Amino acid sequence: MNSSFEERYNRMSELLAPSMAKDHPNLPVVKEEGCYYYGADGTKYLDFTSGIAVANTGHRHPKVVEAIKKGADSLMHGPSGVIMYDSILDLAERLGGIMPPNLDCFFFANSGTEAIEGALKLAKYVTKRQYVVSFTGCFHGRSLGALGVSTSKSKYRKFLQPNGLTYQLPFADAKACPQDQNPAEYCVAELEKDVERLFDHQVTPEEVACMIVEPILGEGGYIIPPKEWLQKVREICDRHGILLIFDEVQTGFGRTGDWFAAQTFDVTPDIMAIAKGIASGMPLSATVASKELMSQWPMGTHGTTFGGNPIACEAALATLDVIEEENLLENSRDMGAYALEGLAKIKSRHSVIGEVRGVGLMIGIEIIDPKTSAPDGDGMMRILDLSLEKGVLFYLCGKHQEVIRMIPPLIVSKEQIDEGLRVFEEAVHEFEKESHLVSV
Ligand code: PLP
Repeated sequence: MNSSFEERYNRMSELLAPSMAKDHPNLPVVKEEGCYYYGADGTKYLDFTSGIAVANTGHRHPKVVEAIKKGADSLMHGPSGVIMYDSILDLAERLGGIMPPNLDCFFFANSGTEAIEGALKLAKYVTKRQYVVSFTGCFHGRSLGALGVSTSKSKYRKFLQPNGLTYQLPFADAKACPQDQNPAEYCVAELEKDVERLFDHQVTPEEVACMIVEPILGEGGYIIPPKEWLQKVREICDRHGILLIFDEVQTGFGRTGDWFAAQTFDVTPDIMAIAKGIASGMPLSATVASKELMSQWPMGTHGTTFGGNPIACEAALATLDVIEEENLLENSRDMGAYALEGLAKIKSRHSVIGEVRGVGLMIGIEIIDPKTSAPDGDGMMRILDLSLEKGVLFYLCGKHQEVIRMIPPLIVSKEQIDEGLRVFEEAVHEFEKESHLVSV
């Protein structure tokens, strides 16, 4: 770290709002490349966070960097409505070709949260219904609208409760399934009961504009619902003329081994929010729906100054090229399966590891207290810190911050997975020694 950086780093809490400066781990970094971060002290870190599921093509992929440079030579700002440019149209056409059926019309914005805002506004506007149903544990962003449907942690909503126009349904909980029952059937039956209770006692279905759900719980703990559960959500929406919104901000662009989780689960929503991996780190997102739906949302009901920035669109086009040319969907599936195999072996050797679950390269590793099987957030944090000391960066999630997110770039190799798992196991072992769970 050069002296001016170090001096400013030490004053981080004065320069930045605590909500930015107090997060974990605030690694001082001067460069990123491929699957690596380069620390200010010269250390090379293997990044298994992808900058929170963004750098799916790896950090600063040369093709993406080239597209950004070339883009900046001609257009840097595309004030929405004032000018029109080819990259935004090209991107809409290209994305239309990879989205689930009928999702082919785009409102481009800058962040996941904005894409969610757009989705909620669109659903309310076209249905003329005012209520929204979301699922407990989901995270959709931190603006007041997105927060109103987010329940991954109550601290996010403290003093910021929504205005009462949202209702909650429980997310699928296969863990609660009694041993003699089928988990998918159990989750579907629970959903039907919960929906009946909601519509009988709290809100009539005719007043509900949309249901919004993350197809896989991200921030809420990397929980994968049974496919049948999501299909039942779709069926319930169809029955009552309720629009279904998928928040694919985190699950999109190859993370699950398909372009989108909607394809992994074979469930097509009416509206989708996409962001994160779309442009390999440039700020870009989109609210996506059919032409028929979008055409009912007239000019001026929604707008943006920066959304669909031309350089971000160029980066997104290059991102799509890289994912296709380098077969990253396939690599996501293959490396995901390889990592899960390795993690199953590691789990068999360490009692602090609870459930390991994943689809593609979206993998969650639960840390538990082996005596009680209760979630162990402190233990998870210690393992995260020990891994970082040994040069590998993982991220966290879960209600009790008890789940390690393993989300490497989709370009990750077998050797890099091996390295990440070796370090992870070393960190787990060291934590077990510190906790007197093992003696050697
Ligand atoms: N939705 C999901 C599923 C997310 O994971 C996130 C961010 O982590 C968001 C929405 C909000 O996206 P952003 O932070 O880009 O506003």
